[in-house]
Amino acid sequence: MEQLINGLHHVTALASGAQKNVDFYTGILGLRLVKKTINFDAPDVYHLYYGDETGSPGTIMTFFPYAGLTRGRRGVQQLTYTAFSIPSASLGFWMDRLSQFNVAYRKPEKRLDETVLRLEDFDGLGIELVATDQDGRVGWGNQRIDPEKAIRGFHSVTLQETKVEPTIKLLTETLQHRVIAESGDRIRLEAGKGGSGTYVDIVATPTGLRGLQGAGTVHHVAFSTDSDHTQELIRSRIEEGGYHVTPVVDRNYFHSIYFREPGGVLFEVATNPPGFSADEAPQNLGTELKLPEWFEPRRKQIESGLEPIEVNVF
Ligand code: ZN
Repeated sequence: MEQLINGLHHVTALASGAQKNVDFYTGILGLRLVKKTINFDAPDVYHLYYGDETGSPGTIMTFFPYAGLTRGRRGVQQLTYTAFSIPSASLGFWMDRLSQFNVAYRKPEKRLDETVLRLEDFDGLGIELVATDQDGRVGWGNQRIDPEKAIRGFHSVTLQETKVEPTIKLLTETLQHRVIAESGDRIRLEAGKGGSGTYVDIVATPTGLRGLQGAGTVHHVAFSTDSDHTQELIRSRIEEGGYHVTPVVDRNYFHSIYFREPGGVLFEVATNPPGFSADEAPQNLGTELKLPEWFEPRRKQIESGLEPIEVNVF
């Protein structure tokens, strides 16, 4: 059976302001801003993409920063935590760094043989840093963060579900995931070659409060597929599974299909090509406001409506 799903591609969340979002993800976490564009469905709002040097699939955290957006509530039927992988030896460095910028975190916890540091971004978005030596990817360094200590990309995402079976059935029977571990109320699945960047954790929360969308909540999670061809194949499988899936949408840096999983979280399957160097040289990624060609005639008007942002490293 052809591999149609490789693991995670990106996670997209909502924020309440562009500059403080940039400050957190590039300034503190040290990710690279790999694309500064607009929400193609709401061109008065940025779409900011952060990742490793090239914005590889499995490293890409993206945001729609709506100025002044009311905070949401983390809860059931949501992707509640997005976990990044860090080298085990850098756990102390990260705790010091978070303290330095008054970012609160919980005491590190053991989970499935790894150590997890739980924190929130400036909008209350659930973030985890997972210390692991089982990840060979190279992080993006800067003048303050050594590449050997840097975030290497996603480790996992956590979905909080009232009923776990329908989502597990979708992931295993349609989206080519395998259940690999279970601990307490948490079930871990992986896809493709497995490991960091391919894990989906499902936490059973039969009586939890429902999440509410707003700043500091995740909008959707995207899984990676190799090509338009594999996307067409997985699209047919999703449709045969009885899910209502959209036609292919051109997102300039990837092509996307969307559908809602039974627990209520919005899923996307995104192609790896063409990637972020489609309209910007690799060394310049994220430096200019990039618009899809159909918005170029309105560039002046769009630019004047966006808050200027600058990329700092703290
Ligand atoms: Zn997306």
